[in-house]
Amino acid sequence: MRKQSALAAVEIGFDGYAIGGVSVGEPEEEMMRGVESSAPFLPENKPRYAMGLGTPPQLLELIARGMDMFDCVLPTRLARNGTAFAATRTLNLKNAEFARDKNPIEEGCTCPTCQEYTRGYIRHLIKAEEILGLRLITLHNLHFYLDLMRQARAAIKNGTFNEFRFNFVTNYKGREVDLMPS
Ligand SMILES: [Zn+2]
Repeated sequence: MRKQSALAAVEIGFDGYAIGGVSVGEPEEEMMRGVESSAPFLPENKPRYAMGLGTPPQLLELIARGMDMFDCVLPTRLARNGTAFAATRTLNLKNAEFARDKNPIEEGCTCPTCQEYTRGYIRHLIKAEEILGLRLITLHNLHFYLDLMRQARAAIKNGTFNEFRFNFVTNYKGREVDLMPS
């Protein structure tokens, strides 16, 4: 039915094509199957948009399947819950382990938050229910997602995307509960 729907949409002829109705509670494998059932029937020279996705590793898997565009609540929703994305995992900045941590959320990150603020201070802001804490994590998380897409585009241009994707996906440790998109 997804194939039928994709072919019918292409027949009408649009400037771009969205794939929706995925990540609505089904296992990730099934979600990928949904995308795989539509993507091959959509023109490669038009933008293809996977709606409402996903975790950082999922985005790279979806790019590998031909997706060009995404939208997702995860970077901002998780930030409001105290969770920051780092290169290989998520950090829950509410945890006591960060109380005296003088490092930025991520060493080497060029976002405005990581230039000025430490994990310990951000944790203090969250604990004090100071809204700035959640705002600082939001800035970092949005930067993280945009930067991941920048890296993916560069890797595609260099012909090294598959290697980039494999290394990232293999090394990324997100807690399933943190990373459940919706
Ligand atoms: Zn940052």
